[in-house]
Amino acid sequence: MPTEEYKGLKIGVLALQGAFNKHVKALKKVGVTPFLVKTSADLFLADGLIIPGGESTVMMRLIDSMRMREALQKFSQKKPILGTCAGLIVLAKEVQNAPFTPLGILSVSVKRNGFGRQIASHRRACQIKEGQIEGIFIRAPRIENVLSKAVETLGTVDHEAVWIQEGVHMGTTFHPELTEDLTIHTQFIGQVAK
Ligand code: GLN
Repeated sequence: MPTEEYKGLKIGVLALQGAFNKHVKALKKVGVTPFLVKTSADLFLADGLIIPGGESTVMMRLIDSMRMREALQKFSQKKPILGTCAGLIVLAKEVQNAPFTPLGILSVSVKRNGFGRQIASHRRACQIKEGQIEGIFIRAPRIENVLSKAVETLGTVDHEAVWIQEGVHMGTTFHPELTEDLTIHTQFIGQVAK
């Protein structure tokens, strides 16, 4: 792992709500300098940003009450963002069952809690180019539609996209910070390093 090369990269983790601490740990293992982003001013110090899992409704409400919507959209025009689970919902262009307007950064249409209540939380093997990684899905969203040809599928479960990339941005429907596997974080950091 090219730890030294990444040392100077400052990666923010949006810390308004949700599972941000585990992302900080994973980022440290990859060798970057993570820090918590709680305001628009924090955001401008970051070379890349992770929006964690949590509760998208609450997160969006906090983003708007902190007046961070515009700052996040501006940030995305220059720098990479990775959204995981609720983070992906927040980044989407369309959310089919949400009482909020998402940020519209990833050209996908997602359905919250898309796997239903019976399987609220499950582990699945995800197919990626390099082989397989384990994904932990917790009340996970489903990517129902891809709205642009620019969206690339990097990981699937049963041929369904669970890890996508559009330009410099990425999204996963699962929680990559809850396993020991650093594939998603490493690839995201590779994107930031470019
Ligand atoms: N179901 C949650 C939402 O709608 C997402 C769950 C998660 O991030 N683990 O925001």
